[in-house]
Amino acid sequence: MDDELHYGVIEGEGVALLTSHPFGPFEPEGRVFALADVRLVAPVLPSKVVAVGRNYLDHVREMGGDKPPSEPMIFLKPSTSVIGPGEPILLPWQSEQVEHEAEIAVVIGRLCRDVPEDRVNEVILGYTCANDVTARDLQGTDGQWGRAKGFDSFCPLGPWIETDLDVEDATVTCTVNGELRQSAVGADMVRAIPELVAWISSVMTLLPGDVILTGTPAGVGRLEAGDETSVSISGIGTLTNPVTDRG
Ligand code: ZN
Repeated sequence: MDDELHYGVIEGEGVALLTSHPFGPFEPEGRVFALADVRLVAPVLPSKVVAVGRNYLDHVREMGGDKPPSEPMIFLKPSTSVIGPGEPILLPWQSEQVEHEAEIAVVIGRLCRDVPEDRVNEVILGYTCANDVTARDLQGTDGQWGRAKGFDSFCPLGPWIETDLDVEDATVTCTVNGELRQSAVGADMVRAIPELVAWISSVMTLLPGDVILTGTPAGVGRLEAGDETSVSISGIGTLTNPVTDRG
């Protein structure tokens, strides 16, 4: 296969290439490749990644809080922080405490704003795995989270978008070098996805391909150079990234 970039639909062990992007009517262009013969990149390049903080009670507690915020708490990660499966998470020299955060990611399918909760399904293309990588020490010292959450490579996404997922029943886990660090089900979220998308879209217009990270459960912990970390969501798959020094 060439080294061109294509959108595709996964069918069994194969990938059927598409004539266009998936944010509208699309159809297969004819070529099908074995999944093992293609290199997957991040499934979308979002205009923005909107992340929700403190959306699992056990994580609120491990961060020293006793209750979730009275309204959703959001922050932005730059599009340039996005990487795909297998790409390295780069540890920046500015931080001595970079941590993993396994999260269920929502991929927006169409331009929208002020979406009512009961119509949120109409604007969601699907779901993927995310790792909201965080420089925990800088998150504390900076006050603002732009740097702590925004380094290049701090938003692994993938391995693909699942369009049909029962989020409430989905299990999200994080492992580091095969050891289980985080585990929760979607139903554990303080605020469910319809409420989050409705609330965020009342603040800012969402564009096709924009990504919403829905918060992380307890068990966040440090990543070291040489580690390999995986985020798995039942019904989607596994997103694995090695960890290296940025140099
Ligand atoms: Zn997070």
